[in-house]
Formats: sequence, structure tokens, C-alpha cells
Amino acid sequence: MSLTDLTLSQMRAGLAARAFSAAELAEAHIAAVAANRHLNAFTLETPDLARAQAEAADAALKAGTAGPLAGVPIGIKDLFCTKGVETTAASNILKGFVPPYESTVSAKLLGAGAVMLGKLNLDEFAMGSSNETSAAGRVISPWKASGSDAELVPGGSSGGSASAVAARLVAGATGTDTGGSIRQPAAFTGITGIKPTYGRCSRYGIIAFASSLDQAGPMARTVEDCAHLLAVMCGHDPRDTTSLDLPVPDFAAALSSDLRGKTIGIPREYRIDGLDPVIARLWDDGIAMLRQAGASTVDVALPHTKYALPAYYIIAPAEASSNLARYDGVRYGARVLPEGASLSDMYEATRAAGFGKEVQRRIMIGTYVLSAGFYDAYYTQAQKVRTLIARDFEAAFQSCDLLLTPTAPSAAFAFGAKADPLEMYLNDVFTVPSSLAGLPAMSVPAGLSADGLPLGLQLIGRPLEEQTVLNAGLALEKAANFTAKPGTVA
Ligand code: GLN
Repeated sequence: MSLTDLTLSQMRAGLAARAFSAAELAEAHIAAVAANRHLNAFTLETPDLARAQAEAADAALKAGTAGPLAGVPIGIKDLFCTKGVETTAASNILKGFVPPYESTVSAKLLGAGAVMLGKLNLDEFAMGSSNETSAAGRVISPWKASGSDAELVPGGSSGGSASAVAARLVAGATGTDTGGSIRQPAAFTGITGIKPTYGRCSRYGIIAFASSLDQAGPMARTVEDCAHLLAVMCGHDPRDTTSLDLPVPDFAAALSSDLRGKTIGIPREYRIDGLDPVIARLWDDGIAMLRQAGASTVDVALPHTKYALPAYYIIAPAEASSNLARYDGVRYGARVLPEGASLSDMYEATRAAGFGKEVQRRIMIGTYVLSAGFYDAYYTQAQKVRTLIARDFEAAFQSCDLLLTPTAPSAAFAFGAKADPLEMYLNDVFTVPSSLAGLPAMSVPAGLSADGLPLGLQLIGRPLEEQTVLNAGLALEKAANFTAKPGTVA
């Protein structure tokens, strides 16, 4: 087995046993990154930084002072500010922005000894479900449908993270999830990703999209790998007022696939009209797998589910329009200053040139729903719906410990397949409700479509019950025994 094919947990064990060095591991991954540039998974490669960090990890391993991720090669979504390393959010407006500080989450990972291979591509400002909106160009999935050479989307917005992990360019990556951006790309690329409870990971230094929804989380090839990363990423941070001041469990140590005594809720509203029969079958298989692991299942109702997408696509753009007001050509990144321009001319020219179409669309929707005449009709109404959705989950969790649903309504699609923005938004139908409620949720690869593409199942837990989510994820992972690999991986 090549070094790049090891799981993060196997890398940890191999490094501890001196089977290979962090420097060797880094070189193998630097080579894999260079050999897979056609995927466009990275906005920036940082091989020299990786070599220096690997050297430090080897020294720490030798001295017995190594952190829990010493020598583990990872990628950081380019939405996390990295000190001294260009951070763009895949937007032209931040081109050339070199943060003078490190995001808390990336600081924790690097502090634990992880080795950063580079910054990972994403939809511009994390707005999208296919990675087609990136100013750095689209990310390509390493997967192809059987018998076809068509390139497929890796999902979004953490598409670079998903592609890089699936193609074995890194052992794990950070993602962010506002309405599904960790879970949906994980499902599309046959990997695992978890969005913890809102507030578990600090948002400090993560470029804001919709602050009341944004949450960081890990993406990796196994549940155990996610557990290792998540434990490092979580934790209280006084620099984020929404950060939860609670102890972080040792998720990996407490992993157990024994689900006896657990009840899994199956929300009937997720059986949407026209649900793809392949997805419906996958879901049924998942129910059987969790029962096999000792859980019982129960039908539950989440009656306001159908209002989740419309509410999300009001709240997220509203917050985005406010967060993105700071990109005005004065303080960060790009500035377009036409001959003889006034200040407002400069704002307009900078923002017109700096933001892509989807970002501009969100800013327009957001400012509209927040405008004086429409605030109550749209924004206030959406906030009320959000509360009802959160209450639905609270009620459902009276009769179950966890929910099982599909992660996405389809397998990965072709570029350009969803040219209508509304059609693209519909792809988030299963991931958005738990985001609005701030709940922990994870996607685990559970099967293949008829043409050999990965499909994921989603587990949604009670607030702060990441461990229960991870445990059920482990049970699914064991039962599904997903061993398929994308074709481009040697
Ligand atoms: N696809 C959703 C959107 O475009 C979710 C994105 C995300 O979670 N960052 O808003």
C-alpha cells in the first residue's frame, strides 16, 4: 500500500511506530498533489511549508513531544485565514490578501502537528453546491461514472477539500458547512464529513458567509479519521462570542459501533416527491444497517421541512449581504479605481469586478429581503420559520436519539447540469434543515449508484451529541464496507 492510501489513523500509528517519517509522508503527498493538478483542488500549494512542518513533526516525534496530529498531511479550505499564506475565499476580491493572523481552527490543527499541503479550492465565499462558482476555476471530482469519461462536480462548497481527500492528496481537510458544504461534497466523493453543533468550532478567522449558520468541520476517508480531526478542531475560543465553553470529548477513544438501546428516527418528510429510487433504496439499506448494529427505528415527523430551503435562501443571503459589505476596495484585496472616480464609484467598480455572479446574486437577494419595505415579509418570516424547524427537531428527538436521511437527492452531476440557480439550491434539500437548527450532522459513504458513483447517508444528532452521530456513522461505515476508490487514484 502506498503512503498516500493510508488512513489518517494508520498514518498516526505508522509515524508512532517509526514505520516511516513525517518527511517521507509529506514528500509522498507533495508528489500526489503535483500529479493531480488537473483536479484543480488547490488554490495554493505550500510544499515548502509542508516540508518545514514535517521536519518539526519528526523532531517532536523523536523527542516525545508530538501532538496528536504530528506529521499528518492535511489541506485547509481557502476560507480559513492562514497567517502569511494567501487566503482568497476563491474570490477575485480577495486576490493577494495575506492574513496577518491564523484562524483558530487551523491554528489548533497546526498546533497539534498537522502538516499543511496547501489551501483548498471552494465555491466563491462558500456559496454553491458544485464548486463551479470559484474564481480559481472549477474543481473536478476524481470520480467518473462507469463507461463515461465526462468530468463530474465534486459538490460544494468544500469541493477542493472533498476532491483532495478522495484522490488521496491529503489524509484529511477542513471544510465549512453553512447549509451542507461539508456533507454534500463528502457524499459526492465517497468520503466522510461531519459538521458539529453550531458553536463547537470557533469561527474566528474563518471568512464569514452567514454567521449564524457557518460551522467548521473535518472531511476525511473514515469516521475514525474525522473523530481525530474533530477533537482537535473543537473547543472554546474567547475570540468568537458564539463559541461554546464546554469540554471536548475524546471522540476517537469513545467510538463504538454498538447501537443497542439507540432509536433512529426516519423523517417521513424527507421522502420527497420524485425521490430517486436509487436514493430511496440506499436509505432503506441504511435503516437495515443501523438495525443490524442493534438500533431500533421509528418514523418521525418534521412538518416544517418544506419551508427550510426557502427560509435558508433568505437568511443566508441576508447575512452574506451584510458580511460582504466589508469588501469595498478600501481595506482588503482588490481595488478598482477608475480615472477620476469618486469613493462610491470605486466601491461599485471594485465590487462589480471582484465578485462573481452567484455572490452578486446573493448580495442582491440579501439586501432586498433586509430592505425597509420587505424586512418583515421576508427576513422576519424566515426567522420564525427557522424557529419552527428547530422545534420540529426538538419534538422528533423526544422519540429518537438520531435521524437517518440521505445526504443529497442525487449522485454527483456533470458541469453545467444545474444552470438554473433554483435547481442548484434544491440540491441542498436534505442538509439545510439541520443547519438552520444548528445540529451536528455527518455524511458517510454507504453505496454506489448504478453507474458506480458514491452515495452518502446523513446522520443528524441532538445538540452536542457528536459522539452519538460518529458512533452511528461507524456502524454504517462497517456495514456498508465502502471500499470503492475513484478511478484516477493509482
Ligand atoms: N449550497 C449551499 C449554499 O450555496 C450551502 C453552502 C455552504 O454550506 N457553504 O448556500
